[in-house]
Parts: sequence; C-alpha cells; structure tokens
Amino acid sequence: MMQTAYIGLGSNLGDRLARLRQAVAGLHRIAAFVRCSPVYEGSAHTLASNDMSPDFLNAVVEIRTDQSGMDLLEACQNIEREGARCRRVPYAPRTIDLDILTFGGVTCSTDQLILPHPRLQERRFVLQPWFDLAPEAYIPSPVDATVSAALADCRDKADLVRTPWLLMMKENEISV
Ligand code: ADP
Ligand code: MG
Repeated sequence: MMQTAYIGLGSNLGDRLARLRQAVAGLHRIAAFVRCSPVYEGSAHTLASNDMSPDFLNAVVEIRTDQSGMDLLEACQNIEREGARCRRVPYAPRTIDLDILTFGGVTCSTDQLILPHPRLQERRFVLQPWFDLAPEAYIPSPVDATVSAALADCRDKADLVRTPWLLMMKENEISV
C-alpha cells in the first residue's frame, strides 16, 4: 500500500548541503514521489553546553512509498552509511542523519523503530521545515496533532535561519 512518510534530514559535518542532496537522491531510488522543505541552519543540540559542535543544516522530505516501515528504516540507514556517518557517540557530529518522523498513520514502538519519531515534538529544527512543507500533516498518537499545532506548542526556542539553498530542481520545490 502506498504510504506518505516524512523524513527528517540533518547534517553538521563536511559539505553539509551536498550530504542533504545525496540523501534526497537516495530517497528518490525508493520513492515514487519526493518533495522537499526549505533548508534551515541552526546550532547543534548537544549534551554539554560547552560542547562546540558545528552548526546543522536540517530539512524535511515527503515521500510516497510502498515499502514497509522497516524496509524504509533500512533504506535510510543505507543512505546514512553511504554518507559515512559515524555512529559511535550519541549527539556526535554526523555527516548525515535520516529520521522517519511519521509513516502514514502508523504507530509502533520496537527496539529499532519508533513511530512517530519520539523526539520530534522537542525539535524546532524538525517542526519548522516540516511546517513549511506540510502544515496540515497529521502526527499520530501520542502527539495527536497537526504539524502546525505541534510547532505552536514547541518549547524549543533554538535559533533557526532559513537558507536560500534548494535540495532539488526548482519545479519540485515548494515555495513558501
Ligand atoms: P537521533 O536521530 O535522535 O539523533 P540516532 O540517529 O543516533 O538518534 O538514532 C538511531 C537509532 O534510532 C537507530 O538505531 C534506529 O533503529 C532508531 N530509531 C527508532 N525509531 C526511529 C525512527 N522513527 N527513525 C529513525 N531511526 C529510528
Ligand atoms: Mg536518527
């Protein structure tokens, strides 16, 4: 069955924009349809306040796919590996990170896959680009809100700057 999924992309190492574009190209291989949010830049969420992690670029991508949630997770992890992401340390700088934010109306919680993504509500760098792309998209329980409502409720006051960079060819890009 065709599902609409939203994927959060983040990169804070190397040629960050190239990493995001590479991830979008990877998603094109498995998806019938791909649409991208604007790209935002913001400082890294770190565990220690004195940690100097490079700034992130973040974006959200909408895809239509007939893959299962687990197959999509595997595909995302393959794309991360192609981007040579280092997995050793949580919150460590990473070349590219792909998170499945929502997968249709699916709710699940296994060791490998939690849907909707458990931390999306606390992340303005997820909700802001997602809002630009699909403000009325529904986030299932336990969030149980549209992206627009989740953004309005978000307590994360992180500074985000919308960049002029595009992830795809212009005709596929939304304009906000
Ligand atoms: P974060 O994205 O919060 O910075 P990581 O990318 O390091 O954290 O977390 C990766 C782990 O999260 C993977 O082992 C993956 O199995 C698990 N995971 C659980 N739910 C999801 C999801 N919805 N999307 C992506 N990874 C998920
Ligand atoms: Mg992740």
